[in-house]
Amino acid sequence: MGCPFCDLNLEITRTLKEGETVRVIFSNPRLMPGHLLVVPKRHVERLKELTSIEQQELFDTVIEFQQQILDKIASGCDVRINYRPFQKEDKLKVHHLHVHLQPRALFDELYEKSQIFEKDVFKEIPKVELDVLKKRFLEK
Ligand SMILES: [Zn+2]
Repeated sequence: MGCPFCDLNLEITRTLKEGETVRVIFSNPRLMPGHLLVVPKRHVERLKELTSIEQQELFDTVIEFQQQILDKIASGCDVRINYRPFQKEDKLKVHHLHVHLQPRALFDELYEKSQIFEKDVFKEIPKVELDVLKKRFLEK
């Protein structure tokens, strides 16, 4: 299977902005109207693989289009990057790094059908977990 984001240059209709190292496209399929993806042109899978020039343009573009969403589409906007190498690639899962910009509103469909259930997943951090993980993150 080819990478849909590497083959994207043929699909001009979805492109909102063509930068030097990144482009902005409509997510298709999308979770809500105005769901955008900021995608590096080069095939990378993790943030650490980006050059500092790519990092800068990616982050500047995310900021620019989050502001556009807030000005023109919705009162809120989630910014999300997933890294899940354990999932198989398919139409909904592409390993090529991309940043989701998702217009959000109070009690929107994503909240009502999915994120409302996250409330049950949140837990206070047990002290022992905090100690163990803090040690793990800080050790050289
Ligand atoms: Zn790719």
